[in-house]
Amino acid sequence: MTRRRKFHRRVYLGILRRQRLICACGCGVKLIRAEGYQFDHHTALALGGADTPDNLRAVRVPCHKEISAVDIRMVRKAARQRKAWLGEKKRRGHALPSRPFDTRLRRKFDGTVEARGSA
Ligand SMILES: [Zn+2]
Repeated sequence: MTRRRKFHRRVYLGILRRQRLICACGCGVKLIRAEGYQFDHHTALALGGADTPDNLRAVRVPCHKEISAVDIRMVRKAARQRKAWLGEKKRRGHALPSRPFDTRLRRKFDGTVEARGSA
């Protein structure tokens, strides 16, 4: 996971100015200092998001809670998919069925069938 950095005050002020002091979640509510606002990683760090100012956005505290809940669900899902991809997840259902023919016999190129190990 990408490391979380702290930026200079100017960077945060620039983000606020970029958003014209409006919550970035889409609710359209103005950010008020008294109400509190936080800086959210638009693409979560755990999902490969960069810890750079352009991936940061200011959101109201209640909005941030909702965003984080969604982010956490996405992070968990990504972890499940990664696990399945790596084969660490238990396979559900049956493995491939055994061969439907008698493995003790073999057919030669000319078509004759003989017991394995006899020749
Ligand atoms: Zn909002």
